[in-house]
Amino acid sequence: MRRMRTPSALAGLSLVLLTLVFAVIGPWLWGEEAVRFDPLHTLEGHSSAHLLGTDDGGRDLLARTLAATRQSVWLALLATLITTAVGVPLGALPSVLGPRAARFTAGLIDSLVAFPVLLLAMFAALLAGAGARGAVVGIGAAAVPGLARLTRTLADTVATSDYVAAARVLGAGRAAVLVRHVLPNIAEPLILTVTANLGYALLGLATLSLLGLGVQPPDYDWGRLLHDTLPRVYVDPEVVAGPALAVAIAGTGFALLGESLARASARAPSAPRGEPRTVLPPGCGPLPAAPDAVLEARDLTVSFGGVTPVRGVSFSVAPGELVGIVGESGSGKSLTALAVGGLLPHPGTASGHVLLGGRPLEEVPRRELGTRLAMVFQDPMAALNPALRVGSQLAEVATTHLGASRREAWRRAADRLGRVRLPDPEAQARRYPHEFSGGMRQRAVIAMGLMGEPELIVADEPTTALDVTVQKRVLELLAEVNETTGAAGLLISHDLAVVSRHCGRVLVMYAGRIVEELPSSELRRARHPYTRALVASSPDLKTDRSLPLATIPGRQPAPAEVPDGCAFAPRCARALERCRTDRPEPTAGLACWNPEDA
Ligand code: SF4
Repeated sequence: MRRMRTPSALAGLSLVLLTLVFAVIGPWLWGEEAVRFDPLHTLEGHSSAHLLGTDDGGRDLLARTLAATRQSVWLALLATLITTAVGVPLGALPSVLGPRAARFTAGLIDSLVAFPVLLLAMFAALLAGAGARGAVVGIGAAAVPGLARLTRTLADTVATSDYVAAARVLGAGRAAVLVRHVLPNIAEPLILTVTANLGYALLGLATLSLLGLGVQPPDYDWGRLLHDTLPRVYVDPEVVAGPALAVAIAGTGFALLGESLARASARAPSAPRGEPRTVLPPGCGPLPAAPDAVLEARDLTVSFGGVTPVRGVSFSVAPGELVGIVGESGSGKSLTALAVGGLLPHPGTASGHVLLGGRPLEEVPRRELGTRLAMVFQDPMAALNPALRVGSQLAEVATTHLGASRREAWRRAADRLGRVRLPDPEAQARRYPHEFSGGMRQRAVIAMGLMGEPELIVADEPTTALDVTVQKRVLELLAEVNETTGAAGLLISHDLAVVSRHCGRVLVMYAGRIVEELPSSELRRARHPYTRALVASSPDLKTDRSLPLATIPGRQPAPAEVPDGCAFAPRCARALERCRTDRPEPTAGLACWNPEDA
């Protein structure tokens, strides 16, 4: 509220309050005088009896101006209602429609925005017929494209957030995503914009009435009064002053207040997180599953246009096993996790085979996937909808997928929050994500994953945003959940120490491929030169902190620059001639022509 104590905000608020007070008391106090004909005093200028003069019926112009406040504000409200009722759904639709329909809707909005607003208003007003109704429809319709475009921009931002991606994984339909996740999170900036739009609607309606297209006699609003008095402006300028000042005061008040509220708004929607996500099933064909594997990826390849950041990755995870994927940034580990969850960023495509419990991923219905697969994202704040109570978000999983009643779903939510060791879980369930610390949020996200009976938990850098102590507790919790529930786990991390401490097995990725797979206890005896270099550059308790940490010389090639032979060759001290021409295929968990001794 402190940010509302600016001169423009206070001025806007005062002018709006003044307008609203006159809208309430205007017709009541001056209504009768405003319509009283006085043939003896027609078309008079300023006098002690009529401060702003009279019109052609001898009616007092000051009384008519004050009494017209209600009609002017009411019509502006109706026009704004039309704008909001059409503009918000139109703008929000592209964020939940399929790509083709979304493109069409977005294109339609952009084309409408290109039309001059006043021209659009006059066109719509003429179509709806001259008079107050036509003016309201015209002004309301003219503001639709602007509001729709703003809504689209805001909704796109929310639609790409992790909690919407999570909701989609959990099987939420388009309408549910729109109503439950997108609209509540863009409501605040939209309400502020609508407030400002009220001011513009007032000005627009006054303009249409001034042009003779708006309110028609015997009705009158400020625009109509301007229309009637304007021809006398050079003789008796005071007759125009009343309605002109009223339009300026009210219009400026609403516009100032809306803009000040928008500036003061402390809560902005989540920042865009890369490209919008689309759920793309891998192009799977029939494939025999590894016995007992919860997750099996075979020859999984991820492409973005002509670029292939993940190339033919194969691995499996058994029940109760926690497998880590490590590698430098850009090695393809996170994209592998997203492909496994069917959450590749647009316009990514996946091919190869991903089987969950022996069944091709694309054959697992979304709703079923929501209970069998749990995703834990990097930023827990982004993974939780800030507008909903934590318990409500957890309960939604149970009501949507397990058909639980609301009461049962809340009880289950509190139980799961207790299982991730949040104190007083019933009270925590009633709190909002912003009331949680970072560690508590991540626990809540894990609890959300446990609302079903997940067979697989995929955690992508789940502790990056947390401090070291909290990191340790959250990772211990993940490992414990894996052990106690028997779920398979896939932990993506750039931190080798974290993975070696909590995972039984490690997959080392480089330039989109798995170059070595080994038990974490054998990391120090790794045979691939890249794994060795990673271990050497990863500090542990025995590392001498007085010496500079070893680094891997050179840089990982970008996906578009991966060479024909071994991608690590330019950085490898053991590279042979063959390494630069022939790609080493993984054999017994190792892809290297000249490995180190064990
Ligand atoms: S294949 Fe050759 S270049 Fe690649 S890691 Fe092994 S030794 Fe080094």
